[in-house]
Amino acid sequence: MATTNTLANAPLVDGHGRTIRYLRVSVTDRCDLRCRYCMAEHMTFLPRSKLATLDELAIITERFIARGVRKVRLSGGEPLVRRDVIDLVHRLGRHVGGALDELTMTTNATRLDTHAAGLAIAGIRRINISLDTRDPDRFRFITRTGDLRRVMAGIAAARAAGLAVKINMVALKDFNEDEIAPMLAWCIAEGHDLTLIETMPLGDVGEDRTDRFLPLTGVQAQLNAHFRLERDLVSTGGPARYWRVDDSTTRIGFISPLTANFCDGCNRVRLTTEGKLYTCLGQDDSHDLKAALRDGDIPALDAAIADALATKPRRHDFRIGAGAAPATTRHMSVTGG
Ligand code: SAM
Ligand code: SF4
Repeated sequence: MATTNTLANAPLVDGHGRTIRYLRVSVTDRCDLRCRYCMAEHMTFLPRSKLATLDELAIITERFIARGVRKVRLSGGEPLVRRDVIDLVHRLGRHVGGALDELTMTTNATRLDTHAAGLAIAGIRRINISLDTRDPDRFRFITRTGDLRRVMAGIAAARAAGLAVKINMVALKDFNEDEIAPMLAWCIAEGHDLTLIETMPLGDVGEDRTDRFLPLTGVQAQLNAHFRLERDLVSTGGPARYWRVDDSTTRIGFISPLTANFCDGCNRVRLTTEGKLYTCLGQDDSHDLKAALRDGDIPALDAAIADALATKPRRHDFRIGAGAAPATTRHMSVTGG
């Protein structure tokens, strides 16, 4: 006798009454860069045998879309290093304008010059590009290996393909503090948005993050002296708080998990390349959706999602300070920043 999947149409609501509308998918934990705040120099990546296939990631993501998720962001690691990721973008892109409001990607842009046009055709309209500095030497230092010219070529290709660009800049004390105002001026001139991010204590990176932690409260006060910032209450569904800058089209966002907690409005969960669901970036508990899918197909997947949502933590517990251990053993690259 066929069993009824009673969860099939249940809304995605967690144990604290928050509705889940946003899924981040880390399509690979691998990366061609080694940003100092993100990864250790010598990282051990998942063996390929542990990865969910792109088809499994698509099935799980489409299940979330069918049950109410309106926005999907592909991230990593570096999403563009996963072979055939464009097939996944095409498959998910078919839902844009229907069940899905937006499909986006966060990338370091090292390979974007060859992929930008394809991503635009597949349904991506906006892309987040990580760029902590526009100085080539500093860029090589912070990424340990990177060539800034590749990233600038990627940004140019994105714009040529018609993609809206948002620059992600991790604000780091004694590294790029002096570049924040010039970066905003450059974004205004180029028509990009800018998001500033406080460094988060995720995974062991082989150095203490305390020395580099820069609270964004002070940064915003300094920017106010140079630019006219006007609060923009339109949300993109993420944790950033946005301001419009002068009379430009540019918006600046601040992601301040350490100095301004945003967990009460959390609407997101994260799927890893292993097919595990993390319901909080800053906590270690996960649910194995790939195993559920392999064992019991969609009903088992729905049951595993229900279990995960019921136990979604109320908030992260980030702490940065001398001697404070990382909040998770997992790096940002595993759950997709
Ligand atoms: N590789 C892609 C990139 O760099 O854009 C996507 C993955 S990366 C993990 C996503 C974002 O997380 C990037 O903007 C990166 O700067 C940010 N990030 C990584 N580790 C972080 C940390 N410990 N604290 C704050 N932001 C972090
Ligand atoms: Fe790679 Fe992105 Fe992490 Fe930098 S921030 S090491 S580009 S995953």
